[in-house]
Amino acid sequence: MATQKQPLKGHICLVTGASRGIGACIARTVAAAGASTVINYRNSELQAKILLEELQEKGYQVMAIKADVSRSQEVEFMFAAIEQEWGSVDLLVNNAGISLRRLFTETSEEEWQQVMDINLKGSFLCCRRALPAMIRNRFGRIINIASIWGLRAASCEVVYAASKGGLIALSRSLAAEMGPSGITVNAIAPGPVDTEMLDHELEESDRKSLIDEIPLGRLATPDDVASLCLFLLTESAYINGQVITLDGGWKI
Ligand code: NAP
Repeated sequence: MATQKQPLKGHICLVTGASRGIGACIARTVAAAGASTVINYRNSELQAKILLEELQEKGYQVMAIKADVSRSQEVEFMFAAIEQEWGSVDLLVNNAGISLRRLFTETSEEEWQQVMDINLKGSFLCCRRALPAMIRNRFGRIINIASIWGLRAASCEVVYAASKGGLIALSRSLAAEMGPSGITVNAIAPGPVDTEMLDHELEESDRKSLIDEIPLGRLATPDDVASLCLFLLTESAYINGQVITLDGGWKI
């Protein structure tokens, strides 16, 4: 039975790309809110295991599953494993993603394909696999973690921006198609979030000038994203097809 302290009790939440960064924080948050939580990862087995043990020690119901979200067979395996253990996923957070910082003219076809496969096709595959049960049960919540670069111009991140723009379009149209079945689909578009992904992209001096541009005077934390996710999963049954920017007022 759901309580105010554990509003997601009785729900099954899959968080893709949850071994570290934003996804790990979302997994911590939804598990603390009572959801049976799946930590999906692709390579970071040790980090996923450490997170799994941390959450199990707190008494939360969690499992970790290795699967590349860009591969349909692995997505199928992951969902089948969850269903066998707990039942069908009714809360899906498509967070797995990779960045690519490159001059457009130096971007290879393979790099384009990899970014699209993980950032866009991965969400397509997970939504497509999750939806039949959500439709049957007339309930579901899907959150796609996009980026401010899906809404604004991003020099030297054109392909990444295109993948996130695609994810935003997917979220809006899927929301229109699934609303009648009691399923909401929303996207979160964060500005810079303090994770390893950003560390790989920014020199210390660039980081300082970036922070100077943000009206709230700091980068977002993974917790900022996780709190918004929790709100969308618990408090917001009538928010559907929205793209919520989370950037401290950076790109108003
Ligand atoms: P991160 O620290 O690099 O973590 C990325 C996560 O995605 C890892 O857990 C990684 O798992 C997983 N992943 C990557 N490819 C995968 C695949 N094919 N299948 C399954 N999992 C996969 O990144 P982050 O900063 O937390 O970003 C999370 C999401 O937020 C991404 O979609 C990103 O585009 C978006 N975002 C980030 C920022 C930012 O400034 N950090 C801003 C806006 C949006 P493994 O390590 O196991 O591969």
